[in-house]
Amino acid sequence: MKKEAVKVNELKAQERSSSFSEVVLGYFEKQALQEAQRCLQCKNPTCSQGCPVGIDIKKFIAQITQKNYEDAYNTIKEKNNFPSICGRVCPAEYQCRKACILSKKDSPFASDQAINIHFLERFVGDFAIKNELEPSLAKDRRLSKFKVAIVGSGPAGLCVAGELARSGVKVTVYEALHKTGGVLRYGIPPFRLPRNILDFEIDYLKKLGVEFVLNFIVGRTKSLEELFKEGYSAVFLGLGAGVPSFLGLDGENLCNVYSANEFLTRINLMKAYKFPQYHTPINAGKSIVVIGGGNTAIDAARAALRLQKIQAIPENTTIIYRRTETEMPARRLEIEHARQEGVNFKFLVQPVGFKGNEQGFIEKIECLECKLGKPDSSGRRRPIPQEGSNFFMESETAIIAVGLKANTLLTGVTPELKVDKYSDLVVDPKTMQTSIEGVYAGGDIVGGEGTVIEAFGTAKKAAASIKRGLI
Ligand SMILES: Cc1cc2nc3c(=O)[nH]c(=O)nc-3n(C[C@H](O)[C@H](O)[C@H](O)COP(=O)(O)OP(=O)(O)OC[C@H]3O[C@@H](n4cnc5c(N)ncnc54)[C@H](O)[C@@H]3O)c2cc1C
Repeated sequence: MKKEAVKVNELKAQERSSSFSEVVLGYFEKQALQEAQRCLQCKNPTCSQGCPVGIDIKKFIAQITQKNYEDAYNTIKEKNNFPSICGRVCPAEYQCRKACILSKKDSPFASDQAINIHFLERFVGDFAIKNELEPSLAKDRRLSKFKVAIVGSGPAGLCVAGELARSGVKVTVYEALHKTGGVLRYGIPPFRLPRNILDFEIDYLKKLGVEFVLNFIVGRTKSLEELFKEGYSAVFLGLGAGVPSFLGLDGENLCNVYSANEFLTRINLMKAYKFPQYHTPINAGKSIVVIGGGNTAIDAARAALRLQKIQAIPENTTIIYRRTETEMPARRLEIEHARQEGVNFKFLVQPVGFKGNEQGFIEKIECLECKLGKPDSSGRRRPIPQEGSNFFMESETAIIAVGLKANTLLTGVTPELKVDKYSDLVVDPKTMQTSIEGVYAGGDIVGGEGTVIEAFGTAKKAAASIKRGLI
């Protein structure tokens, strides 16, 4: 008889939506064992092909069934240094779970029957944290005389730092912000990724000897050339895609129209939800409209709703999206959670302008209704705005979450670094080397916005090339 997938433990919607505490609580041991036992242990497993870093999923799940959690941890760590992060944020339904044999092949994302690989990965990662397990190192003596600089402490930079430090290379990470983690800290809210988990996985790198230099903008504080003069043998650029895109509509510069990046940074990094204890304010407003359909839009909406509750404002937060739920790129679980918590969704709606009052504050958004046409270059059906369907939505706060692009802080002052029309770095796809010898890149700065595990995938490739180039 087919065994049902084991549901993960979660805080109840009412309990969680007025706090920033973690929503998904993970599996207890008994549940993890039950879920692991559902794995068919396929002779030719397809799941690992869906994982951008190629974790041996079949093997670590088998090790869970034998209660060999330490071995399972080492199996994951062979490919991924951050199981507790990935177990929480990976869009598994588009990746490993979608490739699981138990998933229906005709759906755009994994079906419920697919093994909950990400929750099992998280179980193993969290077990290691609780039991202070240390993964085995693979030091290579030949590498210990080299030092490598990494620019950016987001997933890509952290991944390269881990790969190199575990092999014995001396690593320094330069980060523009005053905290490490990139989007993991300033973008993804703590109710999805608690900061003690992030800190634990970053502290592990510090234990390996990785040095972090904060408030340091490569391209401003020091140039690439100056880093090489300091004796670095190679540099890795994990600059991310930190600049928000806007819609270019009238009224977009009104007060209380935020980019999701600014809104989330104020909340996650500057702790605006604890104002006045922390100094950064955000006035949530009675009606909040979030524009977009990705993870950023969902995170912004869920954070906004929590802010309304904390500020004792009746919650009224709505996501508007040009397409339908099926085409939303956000993780399915987050869409479900947002809905449970009380976020409203309005599909097939496109904003055409922001209207404000005399004081310059936004009051409403003018929108058009859309219909879906034929698929566009993204493979998703194109939204077609319907002429004459204009209507207004009340909005005391609007949050724009329609994409991110590269910052040019470094590339703007380093003309030898070849960029494409989006200002993303051009690399050799086999080695991840940029147009400058000894300078490599990975993560969102190559090819634009992606996922954490995709950033790990390109970063690992770059780390392997760096090591090859050193010896
Ligand atoms: C709100 C939000 C939610 C998301 N949710 C998910 C999710 O649930 N699952 C998922 O898989 N992906 C998610 N993503 C996407 C994912 O976070 C990114 O793909 C990933 O962070 C890319 O990693 P990165 O290291 O390339 O860049 P980033 O995380 O952007 O890190 C780049 C770092 O480089 C620093 N930097 C840039 N220029 C310089 C310089 N010149 N000098 C020094 N430092 C510099 C920046 O300050 C930053 O810290 C989300 C993204 C956002 C914005």
